[in-house]
Amino acid sequence: MAAPKRFFVEEIADEVVFSPEESRHARNILRLSEGDEVTLFDGSGKEYSAVVTRADRQGIAVHVVRESVSDREPKTDVFLLVGALKGDKTELVVQKATELGASRIGVFSSRFCAAYMNENKLERLRRVAREAAKQCLRAGVPQVDYFPALEEALAAGAAYRDKLFACEFLERSERSVADMGASVCAVVGSEGGFSAEEYALAQSMGYAGISLGKRILRAETAAVALLAVIMHAVGELG
Ligand code: SAM
Repeated sequence: MAAPKRFFVEEIADEVVFSPEESRHARNILRLSEGDEVTLFDGSGKEYSAVVTRADRQGIAVHVVRESVSDREPKTDVFLLVGALKGDKTELVVQKATELGASRIGVFSSRFCAAYMNENKLERLRRVAREAAKQCLRAGVPQVDYFPALEEALAAGAAYRDKLFACEFLERSERSVADMGASVCAVVGSEGGFSAEEYALAQSMGYAGISLGKRILRAETAAVALLAVIMHAVGELG
């Protein structure tokens, strides 16, 4: 039997009415009808079993019958910071980071960053995170923020126990990624990479330089690779 369809809702209540967009999708594409069971999630890490009580032109209404805590949320709080990337590559990184279990994602501008950010792009990234969470059956949705300067982004990660700074011009890592603690902040540059001054700034703020090998990886490859290595090290990948 197929798992109940999952829907993201901003505000959970006993009775929930889907947005017009979600209602159209649920009725026309998913063919939802009265009595069907669905699963709601609000991004908090909880999920809610609900039953469709109305499915007509006015929209879809459901009644919540049970609340539970998802077991798919990582125990380690991982915050990925990535330089703004050109085209839809930042969206790709947000999607993959959500699937891999990041709790928070920050996009920043830095000295060699060629891409820009605006409110529409940021909202689009937040929607990508919600859709990726729905697809991979997470009940949590990573918070997605923008930082106009690298220093602000690094400061946002200051309280994390382990702070890693992926630096393409490092011969070797300053520390192992094997022994990660309860919270990790990982920083990856944009296509233009980092300057020596930016690396020195990160070090002064407690970040350890990490090499990802002798090959120069694309930023989106580096972000996914570093996140996967961290998640494996903390036991979140099998
Ligand atoms: N513009 C840089 C150059 O040509 O050398 C390349 C930057 S790379 C495309 C984007 C980011 O991915 C880097 O800033 C770094 O964070 C990460 N990265 C790529 N390859 C890496 C490596 N071998 N070791 C550490 N970080 C790497």
